[in-house]
Amino acid sequence: MKLVILDRDGVINFDSDQFIKNPREWNPIPGSLEAIAQLNQAGFRVVVATNQSGVGRGLFDMSTLNAIHAKMHKLAVLAGGRIDAVFLCPHAADSRCACRKPKAGLFIDIAARFHIDLSNVYAIGDALRDVQAAMAAGARPLLVKTGKGMRTIEGGQLPVEVPVYENLAQAALAIISEANPA
Ligand SMILES: [Mg+2]
Ligand SMILES: [Zn+2]
Repeated sequence: MKLVILDRDGVINFDSDQFIKNPREWNPIPGSLEAIAQLNQAGFRVVVATNQSGVGRGLFDMSTLNAIHAKMHKLAVLAGGRIDAVFLCPHAADSRCACRKPKAGLFIDIAARFHIDLSNVYAIGDALRDVQAAMAAGARPLLVKTGKGMRTIEGGQLPVEVPVYENLAQAALAIISEANPA
């Protein structure tokens, strides 16, 4: 089985420092849903691993988050793609949970659910904590410049071996062409 793990905010949809608090605020980055469809067509299942501390902070509740994800799933389907599952950490940033990235908990849950070794699984994120979580779980991190990506690069802490792509569309193309060499 081939799997790709995506961060949500700043990778699939436009991020906001004010949090994505309702479905109206969830808007896809152009090309991201089509990229998911292309990954699917190349045989990859796509799952999301996302920190949503707005739940723990009381900014929105789980039913609102479910409505946001219903919009995401619907728009992915309209683009010809499918997101198999959303793994999320709802805890506040100061909680000591095992799932909030940069911890590896969400990735470990994904590995268990799909019975997959993460060593050949790409994880695409825009923040350093996405990269750190992927590395802690033994997955293969990729960074995109969308969302917090440029800030992550400018922060100077990104490990040099982590490949960087303009956006999810470019990262997906690279993954697909590596999986299907010409
Ligand atoms: Mg993000
Ligand atoms: Zn958590």
